[in-house]
Formats: sequence, structure tokens, C-alpha cells
Amino acid sequence: MQPIIGIACPAEFLTASSLDPSFTLSTRYADGIMRCGGTPLLIPLRHHDYAPIRQMAQAVDGIILAGGGDPAPHLFGEEPLQGLGEVDYERDLAEMRLIEAARELNKPLLGICRGMQIINVALGGTLIQDIPSQVAGAGQHSQKGSLPYGSHHVRLEPGFLRDALQTDSVLVNSFHHQAVKDPAPGLRVTAVAPDGIIEAFESDDQMVIGIQWHPECMWKYDDGMLRVAERFVEKVSSCKR
Ligand code: MN
Repeated sequence: MQPIIGIACPAEFLTASSLDPSFTLSTRYADGIMRCGGTPLLIPLRHHDYAPIRQMAQAVDGIILAGGGDPAPHLFGEEPLQGLGEVDYERDLAEMRLIEAARELNKPLLGICRGMQIINVALGGTLIQDIPSQVAGAGQHSQKGSLPYGSHHVRLEPGFLRDALQTDSVLVNSFHHQAVKDPAPGLRVTAVAPDGIIEAFESDDQMVIGIQWHPECMWKYDDGMLRVAERFVEKVSSCKR
């Protein structure tokens, strides 16, 4: 049977007059997983009671956490700075429970953009709340070009991404104003932008992978970047046995 990749799906108010939020997620994540021989399954993130979240994690073989807004800074011991963006505390709590369940059940985790950031916070790391106002000399990480196109390079250290992409320098897209400051214990930085901003990390057993750029916006047009999804599906397959 194909490995089942759970993709956490946040709840958002679609219009100001919506009575309830709707589960919304770009189709790009599931499209990439399908193309790589995985079976995508959406995980609705709404409540943060542990028992049902743990059962959802149990129902899948691996989990992807998607992009989105900023994690609440008090979760990593900071007060909000002026540059902090929109926060969805309910989503923070639900995703942190899901991460906890994935760790407990030994399911591989892939965090993309905000997904990487919330994994870092959940495991005890900290974030830069706003790169432009906090990091002197930082390059542009909120690119003006369209989603599929890379804008800055990252240098890849040995690990999951370098094995997937078969290169030690790759052009990536960039749609983030936050970044990992102190990686959580047990996470090793595996990609860095020319200005020193952390762009990926992983645990030694590669059960936790974080990517700051958006491979899912590139892999529709870039088979090279699709290797990231392929390699995650392979990792999930190998853990399933
Ligand atoms: Mn970037």
C-alpha cells in the first residue's frame, strides 16, 4: 500500500461575514505527493485536544505542516515586536499538539515555511520575528517575483536536501519575513542563505525536516524540486515497515 501523507489543513475565515472558518489549503502539496506515489490525506486543524489529534496522526504514515502566518512569540519566550505579522494562536496550539503526537508515534515530519518555524518552536527553538527590522544586512526574503521562480541561493550541508537535490547550492523562492533564530535541540542546520538566514534543518535520524522556502510552489514546473517530495515519500515508506 502507498504511504499515507497527512497534510495539516488550517481553518481560516474566508470572508469577514463568514459564520465559521473553512479548512483551506493549497492543492500544490497534495499534487506533489500524488505525483511521487504517496497518498495525501488532509488533517483538519481546528481543536487542540490531544486525543483526537493523536488519532489523526496515527491514521497517517507521515505528516506535512504547511505555510501560513506567524507563530505567537510568547510560545518561544518573547514579547511581540512591531514587525510581527498575523498570528493564529488556535492553529499554533493544534499544530504543536500534532507535532507532539508525530514525535511520540515516530512519524516523519516535514515542515514547510511556517511549518518549519512551528516545529522549531514546538521542540524548544526560537524565531526571528521579522527579518527586515531585526537582521542588519539581510537580503530580500519576500520576493516580488512569482511563486515558482527562485530568487536567492542557499548553500546545502550534507543531509536530506542535498541528497534529494544532488547539489550543494540551489536557487530557491522566498516568501517569509520570519526565520529560525536558535534551532531547537537536536536539529541541525542544513541550508543557509548568503546573508546567514537559516533556510532548512533536520534531525540526525531525518524524522524531522524543515524547509524555509516553498518547494511545493516550484515542483509543478521543476522536477528537481519535486525530488524533495519524492524523498519525503521514500522516507515515510521506509519508516512504515
Ligand atoms: Mn529566504
